[in-house]
Amino acid sequence: TLFPYTTLFRSNDFLPTGALPVPEGDQIIPLVNQLQKKFELIVATQDWHPKNHESFAVFHGREPGEIITLHGIEQVLWPVHCVQKSFGAQLAVGLETNSIERVFQKGINPEVDSYSGFFDNEHQNDTGLASYLVEKGVSELFIVGLALDYCVKFTALDARQCGLNTSLIVDGTRGVNIDASDSVKAVKEMSEAGVNIVQSLDLLTV
Ligand code: ZN
Repeated sequence: TLFPYTTLFRSNDFLPTGALPVPEGDQIIPLVNQLQKKFELIVATQDWHPKNHESFAVFHGREPGEIITLHGIEQVLWPVHCVQKSFGAQLAVGLETNSIERVFQKGINPEVDSYSGFFDNEHQNDTGLASYLVEKGVSELFIVGLALDYCVKFTALDARQCGLNTSLIVDGTRGVNIDASDSVKAVKEMSEAGVNIVQSLDLLTV
C-alpha cells in the first residue's frame, strides 16, 4: 500500500545537538526513512528564518521559553535557529531526501512565526502546500517530524481545516516539551480535531 503524506522532518537545528534541540529527535530518522518506502508522494517543510526573525529571544533581549505578545499574538521565544542557508536549516543529516518531491519553506517573514506547514501563525500567508496537495489530488495525509507539540500539531490541525483525512504517525515524532506534558496535550488536541493517531507498524505491516 502506498500512501500520500508529508514529512515534517526538517532541520539539523532540531536534532539533540542543534540550536533548538528536540530530545530524541534524531531517533525518528531511521523510522522516517523506512516509512518513506510506503508512500507515493512525500513533501517536506523547512523552517527558513531570516537572521532577524522576531521569534528569536535575543532579538528582544530575552530568554528562550519566555512568552511575549508579538504583533498581537502570543509568541514563544526561541533560540536562534534555522537561519536561511545555515547548516542548521538544512534537512537533517541521515534523512533520505531523494524521494522528497517538494520542500515548503516557512517562517520567512521576520514579523510572524510559522509553525504549520500550511499557514503562518496569523493565518495570513500560506506556503503553497494546500494548493499543491489539491493539484496532486491528495486527500489523505500522514505526518511525521519535529516537533510534535509545535510544528507537527499546527500542521495537523490546519490539514484538518483544509478537509484532509489526516493521520499522525505518533512514533515518528518527538516533542520539545517545554512543559513535560506538552506532547500528551498535543496528541489529545489533534485527536479531538479529528486527526487519526496511528503507529508506524500499522503502515509498515500492510
Ligand atoms: Zn522556527
